[in-house]
Amino acid sequence: MRQSWLPIPHDSDFSIHNLPFGIFSDERPARAGLAIGNWVVDLAAAYALNMFPQYPEAGNAFRKPVLNDLIALGRGFSEYVRKIIQTALCDEQSDLKQLADHLLIPQKKVQMHMPLKVGNYTDFYSSEEHAFSVGKLFRPDNPLFPNWKHLPVAYHGRASSIVVSGTPVPRPRGQTGQANGTPSFKPTNALDYELELAFVVGKESVIGQPVSIEEAEDYIFGMLLFNDWSARDIQRWEYQPLGPFTSKNFASGVSPWIVTWEALQHFRIPAPAQQPEPLPYLAHYPRQNFDLSLSVSINPGSSEEFLVCQTNASGIYWTAAQQIAHHTVTGCNLQTGDLLATGTISGSGISQKGCLLEATLNGTQPLKLRDGIDRRFLEDHDEVIMRGFGQKGDVRVGFGELRGKVLPAIRYSS
Ligand code: CA
Repeated sequence: MRQSWLPIPHDSDFSIHNLPFGIFSDERPARAGLAIGNWVVDLAAAYALNMFPQYPEAGNAFRKPVLNDLIALGRGFSEYVRKIIQTALCDEQSDLKQLADHLLIPQKKVQMHMPLKVGNYTDFYSSEEHAFSVGKLFRPDNPLFPNWKHLPVAYHGRASSIVVSGTPVPRPRGQTGQANGTPSFKPTNALDYELELAFVVGKESVIGQPVSIEEAEDYIFGMLLFNDWSARDIQRWEYQPLGPFTSKNFASGVSPWIVTWEALQHFRIPAPAQQPEPLPYLAHYPRQNFDLSLSVSINPGSSEEFLVCQTNASGIYWTAAQQIAHHTVTGCNLQTGDLLATGTISGSGISQKGCLLEATLNGTQPLKLRDGIDRRFLEDHDEVIMRGFGQKGDVRVGFGELRGKVLPAIRYSS
């Protein structure tokens, strides 16, 4: 077990094994950093002190307000940077320790920013528990469509409205259907979160050239928590036949720190067996997921927060490799900074449901937070807090928090 000279709380998501990348600012402009314990390592300042001599040309990448250029330098580069910092954090004689006042900044003194310029965002539907229980709400006799076990179902989402943790979400207005078949226009009455993980694409693929399933994992830089905010009443009216549109394009939240592919390797776990076997371009062995504990809490207004979901990412039916192989099978190219989200991650129990649609059976069984407070869907001023981490022995690697607060509907000016 590596020990750092820096005091790191034993339950910190940002252990010496993690060292995730993010974009932060203080009184100086936004730039790249690594999280360690309650601190940020200023990578631009570390570069200026020649701490990364194998990459003399990398300075600009550390000074950019998004991580795309840094990620494009390759996983070999990001692993090198993490290794240098990890070694320095364990070496009492290191420059990092001697110059800690200059290189380490308390997290409570920085602002975190959207870490990526996301070119493309795809939302999968890869948790069988979620697809089954949502399908059952609307099609009790036929919960899963016939395609579901043959391909990882997904839709292309909206990249421009992906926002970092802490960004408030005004309640959207939109069209909702009424019993008489005509729409009304009003603030959504069924605002929901969706607990997801998102893979960050780390390198480009070539248009017209599918990425094989054997190579697919080479294209992943790391992972984030992802909240796919959804307005269920708007979704219900608009989604046929082409899928959700304005009910999901108003905001999606991401956690600020990207946990690297390398740091996730501690938590590999076999993925569920697939029956029927998928087509050869989706078949690989071993199929693996990550053993990551995930949770959602709601803070209603300014009182305490209530845990409303505890689940795990280990049961996802379609793996990241299968998602990439399928995404590119027709020749669609991946770009650095693209996000591939898993879809809502749910377990079988009612306390393991990754969205309120499932947890309240479409609003018919309100969740009791405590006496006098229950929720069908989200209310104004509710803050949704998502967390996730892996723990194996003493090794803990986590995402920190993804927060988003619901604001009252903004006025529509016509
Ligand atoms: Ca989703």
